[in-house]
Amino acid sequence: MIKVAVFGALGRMGRETVSAIRADEDLELTWAVDVEARDEGLTVLTDDVVETRVTGSVESLQSDLPDVMVDFTRAEEAVRNVLWSLDKGIHCVVGTTGIGEDDLGLIRARAGEGTANAIIAANFAIGAVLMMRFSEAAARYFDMCEVIELHHRKKLDSPSGTAIATAQRIAAVIDPEGPSPSREDSVEGARGGSVGPVRIHSVRLDGLVAHQEVIFGSTGQTLSIRHDTTDRSCFMPGVLMAVKVIADIPGLTIGLEPVLDL
Ligand code: NAD
Repeated sequence: MIKVAVFGALGRMGRETVSAIRADEDLELTWAVDVEARDEGLTVLTDDVVETRVTGSVESLQSDLPDVMVDFTRAEEAVRNVLWSLDKGIHCVVGTTGIGEDDLGLIRARAGEGTANAIIAANFAIGAVLMMRFSEAAARYFDMCEVIELHHRKKLDSPSGTAIATAQRIAAVIDPEGPSPSREDSVEGARGGSVGPVRIHSVRLDGLVAHQEVIFGSTGQTLSIRHDTTDRSCFMPGVLMAVKVIADIPGLTIGLEPVLDL
């Protein structure tokens, strides 16, 4: 039985993760941590689950250490949670997006010390991982590419971590000297932001969950590769898979591909 802690347990992804862990017979939920927890006692997480301990401070959780923590919080908070956990020998599965390069360096160094491992994945949906892989493959054969990512309006970071990761992978393959579009923007930002030669456009609307379309263009043809998330449960198979194998993947792993053996 793997003991698991969830950080951000009262958030949208945290609640989904708590439910998924509780439903998995190989996993035991030991802590549910959230800064929004009002007290140190029992908190109702779902209609039928009342016995999970929810606490706002990890300092009060020194006993019954978990084997693995899952973090779905906010970038700067996640870094603190992860460094604290690695120090305690707790493996980390991190879905929180927006963690910067400097912080990744800190986590890489700490995970490299050998006491605990970490995986940071901008997207745990297996379909999204395949979308990135297929996009990287297509980039060799097309001249131009733009990414449109669409999310619910409460998403904090723009563009999404998945869009940045996708664009970086395409930019590493696509010809940087390819054709450039004519430029005359009458509305600032109309052409989105750039990761190398790849443009990213972020849409934020109620009614959306998480969606991304990668559009490649070349003479006389386009190719669209699209992934749609219609429910947050889609992230859970990837999260549970990572929780179960993280002890065997030394150091810091970025992305879900090594877990999926892609
Ligand atoms: P949310 O705002 O609904 O939830 C975040 C929760 O974290 C809140 O309940 C907040 O109180 C809590 N929190 C903040 N600081 C904390 C701390 N130090 N310790 C414990 N809890 C803390 O956000 P969300 O929609 O659940 O998304 C969370 C993160 O996950 C975001 O970065 C989002 O981009 C990312 N995300 C990743 C994936 C993926 O597959 N990797 C999928 C969806 C969302």
